[in-house]
Amino acid sequence: MQEKCIFCKIIEGKLPAEKIYEDESSLAFLDINPVNPGHCLVVSKEHFDNLLATPPSAAKRLTETVLKVSQAVREAVAAEGINININNGRAAGQVVFHTHIHIIPRYKGDGLKLWSGAAYRDANEMSALAEKIRQAIK
Ligand code: 5GP
Ligand code: ZN
Repeated sequence: MQEKCIFCKIIEGKLPAEKIYEDESSLAFLDINPVNPGHCLVVSKEHFDNLLATPPSAAKRLTETVLKVSQAVREAVAAEGINININNGRAAGQVVFHTHIHIIPRYKGDGLKLWSGAAYRDANEMSALAEKIRQAIK
């Protein structure tokens, strides 16, 4: 049998975690290596490799948990802002291949930079790409 992933082990109680909230389909716990204290992860109890492999109904339930936990994190650590971040695929920084959503408390000047400021060559390039993506919507 295939070895269970690290988040499945946390969900099953086989690995410890500082749990924050749980319902029938989701679990929230503190990230062991936070960007800032209070950084939480919301995971689906069912294993999917990432959000793009997660059925929409399960993703909707995760969103409800993310909203609930984000409000609590903001209040508990007096966050000035919250990043809600999902890494899908290795190139996007995903390390644990089990659907999870980061809730990251942020403060002015805390140093985390998410966008590199890439640009389009011109408006035509931007329009052509927008059309390509529109055509790919299913
Ligand atoms: P990813 O880069 O896959 O989006 O993020 C995975 C996150 O899981 C990382 O922020 C990392 O710190 C966290 N993490 C990895 N292993 C553990 C663990 O065993 N316990 C907890 N609480 N967090 C973990
Ligand atoms: Zn898993």
